Amino acid sequence: MRFPISCLLLLVLVAPAFGQPSEPHSHGSAVVRIALSGTDVMIAVEIPGADLVGFEHPPTQPEQQNKIDDAMGVLEDWSRLVAVSEGNCVQQTGEVNTHGFEAGDTLGHAHFQVEYALACTVAPTKIEMALFASFPGLEQADVEIVGPSLAIDKVLTPSNPIVSW
Ligand SMILES: [Zn+2]
Repeated sequence: MRFPISCLLLLVLVAPAFGQPSEPHSHGSAVVRIALSGTDVMIAVEIPGADLVGFEHPPTQPEQQNKIDDAMGVLEDWSRLVAVSEGNCVQQTGEVNTHGFEAGDTLGHAHFQVEYALACTVAPTKIEMALFASFPGLEQADVEIVGPSLAIDKVLTPSNPIVSW
């Protein structure tokens, strides 16, 4: 019965940060929220469109749509966002969405949003931001990790991509 709890926890985590797509974001900076619950790991990532595809409006040319599709393809593989070396983590659920790229959107900003739930054999104590290698345009990640006895708020960079606890 651990999964419903995980889902609830993810909702609680994600809702405050990502509830308002028009909220300003910082280009070059990803927001990563990780929730640990026993051996379950919930990951939510938001990355500005500018950093992944170079624009933040609905695509007007086929090549812009291709860029979005390519970015989605990378985001659909959670291991290209975070590297979890412990616990043989296996994906349970996953969702990749865009905000601001849909026809008619006039937000002026757009971002990609990803949510994954992983089930691991042991609770990880270290996570590396693989997203820097996947998306060289990213300069930093604002990482927040919460767990039963854990609360980490840290800025990671391509030269300092690992957080451990
Ligand atoms: Zn923007």
